[in-house]
Amino acid sequence: MDDFELPGVPDAFQRLWTPHRLAYVKNGEQVTGTHDCPFCEAPSRSNEQSLIVYRGELAYVVLNLFPYNPGHLLVCPYRHVPDYTDLTVAETAEFAALTQQAMRVLRAVANSSGFNLGMNQGVTGGAGIAAHLHQHIVPRWGGDGNFLPIIAGTKAITQTLGDVREQVANAWNTVE
Ligand SMILES: [Zn+2]
Repeated sequence: MDDFELPGVPDAFQRLWTPHRLAYVKNGEQVTGTHDCPFCEAPSRSNEQSLIVYRGELAYVVLNLFPYNPGHLLVCPYRHVPDYTDLTVAETAEFAALTQQAMRVLRAVANSSGFNLGMNQGVTGGAGIAAHLHQHIVPRWGGDGNFLPIIAGTKAITQTLGDVREQVANAWNTVE
């Protein structure tokens, strides 16, 4: 299966803490253009197919195909831009508002007690898909263990991505 069938950042967290690791590549090359970019592709498919939980005007929210905890969300601008400074004022405002709502929704539906938020900027900064800006929102729970199983990618994900998507999407417009 094509690695880019669904949006996701396979090992961003590993590289967040071990930046020496190689960036995620396909056919030996980083994603550069929009044609092979999963974050550009996702909005052209259904929410269910792409694991999108909410479509805003300038940005959207999608489940990470490679979650480090259940409910690991990504906020992405629709525009294929690499850097946080590339966002317009309006995009920046919506990007921030969607991040805030993602936190509220995850607290409401999953009772998460903490979060890791972050953007890896550039290949050097550890971005799995450096060409298209995305913000990670990872819910945390007191009992979710230490970083080791998360980094190792061996943590059991107890809910399927489809179920998580549905719960988050259903709550998006009702949680305040
Ligand atoms: Zn893109």
